[in-house]
Amino acid sequence: MAKSCAEQAIVLIAPGEQSLSWRRCGTIWSMRKGIGVSPGVAVGKAYCIQQIFVNPETRTLELGEVLGELSRYDQAREQTAADLHALYQKVRKQVGEQDAAIFQTHEQILRDPAFTAKIRNWIVDEHMSAAMALDRLLREYTEFFSHTEDEYLRERLADVRDVVIRLSGHLSEMLEPEGGMPRGDLILIADELLPSQVVTLGDRTVSGIVTQAGSGTSHAAILARSRGIPAVSGLRGVLRHVKNGDTVVVDGREGLVVVNPDPEQLSAYLKLQREFFDLKDALAENRDQPAVSADGQEVQLLANINSVADARAATAMGAVGVGLFRTEYLFLTHPDVPDEEEQLAAYREIIAESPNRQVTIRTLDLGGDKTIPYLGHAREANPFLGWRSIRLSFEHPEFFMKQIRAILRAAAKTNSEKSRVRMMFPMITTLEELRKVHTMVKRAKEQLTAEGKPYGNVQIGLMLEVPAAAVSIDQMLNLVHFVSIGSNDLVQYLMAADRDNPKVSHLCQPLSPPVLRVLLSVIEACNFARKPVTLCGEMAGAPRAIVLLFGMGLRSFSMSPAFIPIIKDLTSHLTVRRAERVLRKALSLKTTAQIQDFMAKQIAEIAPNLKMLDTA
Ligand code: PEP
Ligand code: MG
Repeated sequence: MAKSCAEQAIVLIAPGEQSLSWRRCGTIWSMRKGIGVSPGVAVGKAYCIQQIFVNPETRTLELGEVLGELSRYDQAREQTAADLHALYQKVRKQVGEQDAAIFQTHEQILRDPAFTAKIRNWIVDEHMSAAMALDRLLREYTEFFSHTEDEYLRERLADVRDVVIRLSGHLSEMLEPEGGMPRGDLILIADELLPSQVVTLGDRTVSGIVTQAGSGTSHAAILARSRGIPAVSGLRGVLRHVKNGDTVVVDGREGLVVVNPDPEQLSAYLKLQREFFDLKDALAENRDQPAVSADGQEVQLLANINSVADARAATAMGAVGVGLFRTEYLFLTHPDVPDEEEQLAAYREIIAESPNRQVTIRTLDLGGDKTIPYLGHAREANPFLGWRSIRLSFEHPEFFMKQIRAILRAAAKTNSEKSRVRMMFPMITTLEELRKVHTMVKRAKEQLTAEGKPYGNVQIGLMLEVPAAAVSIDQMLNLVHFVSIGSNDLVQYLMAADRDNPKVSHLCQPLSPPVLRVLLSVIEACNFARKPVTLCGEMAGAPRAIVLLFGMGLRSFSMSPAFIPIIKDLTSHLTVRRAERVLRKALSLKTTAQIQDFMAKQIAEIAPNLKMLDTA
């Protein structure tokens, strides 16, 4: 039986073990275990995105092709120089000279005679394609810089890499896999999907995603989940083993990827994929029903969105509002800082398309894995601990103010029973930051009043993502109208484990004893102070976590739209008594593995139909 092959591989690969080589079952398919980051099963054709020359063409040029390749390279260099120059001008105008300087450095690297001479020599003397030459150059630099401890020199390597990526973009066919995009349903295979790439996938039917890097809460994973696309991350080496057009199975429940399955295997997985679709269809039928627990407790199910398309999906899936609008995607897909009027139009559209016109807009949360070139992000040793999110916004008061003003204006005439706009601030760490936020909002309102521009009285909320804020939550509560727990970041900071690094994903676990304790204390503090509290991290879409959070007294959850029907179905099976009992038991367990095992069994008992959509 095909299934026994899968089971055999699961046995061979110990849970959590990432480093085993590709397993063969028979001769025609291979299977590997990564981290399941978006549940469900997908089958499709591989489309390998080579962000940089992972598999550079190795064919040497014919003599007659050399001149053409040189001019192709020169053209790409000129286009890159023009890009860099334009970016420099724009950033200097919008943000300042200091931040723009990075683009001048990149232009200098691009124009560096030694850099250019090497590439041109390899094209002329060794008949290398420009792509091969750039790949070789990058490898030489990497080798050279790997021996240095000097932070400054290491940063220069990152700059060279940036320039090479930009150049490669202009030698664009290098980024297109051989043979172009396969027909039919695509399984995207990439080292790491950048948020901006996922946003621009367009209307292609992407049925599955596999990445070498990343983990459950990386932004690419969140985007996959928001579209209900099964995804597996942390699969090192996958780009070397999969060719464009290969048939690939993505099993997001188990974190398994099967390449070129045999016919039995394929038919077993196609059956699972159909079951996955059927289950989703069946659950979607509950969209007009209220979310209520089996003992009559009302539950608020909100959606996390990044775009207008997501807002429509939220409505289609039966969310009652938007609990988190991530505004950074507006910035990530814009060539420069969107001005106040552009932002105003975008926020108005989001409000109009959101369920019940209820939207919680989060101010810009850049940094970490979300950088935009026009802010001239300096490279940092620890980007997640550095200049990100609200910290970055405070340092750019001119554009932060524009955003606050645009949100206030978009909220004009909204705060009624029918429509409500709230504004929340990410990564708040100290009381002083909250005070500063209030000062800025007050100033923005005064400006708007003076200019005669209408605005709404939005509620102000804090995103609880930093352990320091969790510890002092009682002191912060009287400065906010509501709290939204950003568990993705809270977990990474509490466990000191990068949410994007598969090597530490065993630590970055929401269902771990310390995380549960902190969540309980925050939820209890908010409920005690009668401050509305929501959880908007990825765990809000995980059935196991919902049972525990419901037991802690949480009644508002914000998640990827695709999870709304699932969680609505789950809550209809829950009672407060049972959830509290399960929570008590879970809190008495000492390890994450014990909690996971226990919760898997609980889900199987409480809602056996959801087993396929329950991930660890
Ligand atoms: C979070 O940190 O839980 C969150 C919702 O914010 P983001 O994932 O965008 O960092
Ligand atoms: Mg966050």
